[in-house]
Amino acid sequence: VYSGSTEEAETSLRELAALAETAGSRVLDGVLQRRDTPDPSTYLGRGKAQELAQIVANVGADTVITDTELAPSQRRALEDVVKVKVIDRVALILDIFAQHAKSREGKAQVELAQLEYLLPRLRGWGDSMSRQAGGRVAGGAGIGSRGPGETKIELDRRRIRTRMAKLRREIKAMAPARETKRSNRTRNKVPSVAIVGYTNAGKSSLLNRLTDAGVMVKNELFATLDPTVRQAHTADGRVFTYTDTVGFVRNLPHQLVEAFRSTLEEASDADLLLHIVDASHADPLAQIRAVHEVLNEAETGDIPELIVFNKADIANPDTLARVLNTYPNAVVVSAHSGQGVEELRDRIDDLLPRPSHHITALIP
Ligand code: GDP
Repeated sequence: VYSGSTEEAETSLRELAALAETAGSRVLDGVLQRRDTPDPSTYLGRGKAQELAQIVANVGADTVITDTELAPSQRRALEDVVKVKVIDRVALILDIFAQHAKSREGKAQVELAQLEYLLPRLRGWGDSMSRQAGGRVAGGAGIGSRGPGETKIELDRRRIRTRMAKLRREIKAMAPARETKRSNRTRNKVPSVAIVGYTNAGKSSLLNRLTDAGVMVKNELFATLDPTVRQAHTADGRVFTYTDTVGFVRNLPHQLVEAFRSTLEEASDADLLLHIVDASHADPLAQIRAVHEVLNEAETGDIPELIVFNKADIANPDTLARVLNTYPNAVVVSAHSGQGVEELRDRIDDLLPRPSHHITALIP
């Protein structure tokens, strides 16, 4: 359901499809419905919902994923019409994060985000229960809210809040460990390159090209929720590291910002930002702007950035010319064909800090 331009809606839906595939689904069809606001009862509106039910039956889908957040009542009403499971974009992203969280902190951040997502939904259910109760008892507004259903919800809510508080404490306690790791690396002076970029830009594929590490490449937006660090050498033998960060996603649910930020802290420690952009995307410049906005928050402003336009093999030449006009210093590559990868290596070599000739650090 969209109210802006069709192009914008299609882009959003394509990303939703990419997210669904990352989560392990096969995407069968997409449906756009123009409305100023989603239908309060069935999200799509009754007619369109019935149309969707027909499509679902025809293609044999077992799940419907909506691109915007659903109220609990909308989800139930839509499920009643389409007769299959309905989930929204936020739930989908949470699912992907949960699948890929590896570190203790990553896992804790994701669980916290899941509980944050769940909490108002319990309340929403409680609200509809009390409305039903209020309807049964004439003039009994508020009566239903003291029924047994509400007591159960209140208990669940309290348990969730307790768990959330515990997770927050744990995360806070983990922060110093991260600091230590960082200061160690700073002290050791091993230069680091942080790879940042949008969903599906090709970060893993490119990292494989650059490091010959034979790392598993998956068509997954968040193959690396926890920053993974890999060692590499420049042509003249200097050692440095690559840090892969979790992919950016449009309209990142606010509950996930913290989990996402914890991955970017690694980027704020880097000597060079390698910003991978999907040049075959409809609007690469908008993606660059969005990444820059978040990076600014992570205080990476003083780190040199090298913009890399990937997927040159399938990019529209006009788009490529346009983005190069805006970023003339960018490198154009294809992780698939290998085009431009040597130039990229050279540029990274040049941009990495060189060891000083006056190092006396070996003297204790
Ligand atoms: P990440 O999410 O940024 O790590 O992206 P991946 O490396 O997983 O790549 C996402 C998708 O884009 C995969 O299906 C890749 O096969 C594809 N891909 C990556 N690089 C290229 C490229 O240079 N050309 C083409 N055509 N596809 C690419």
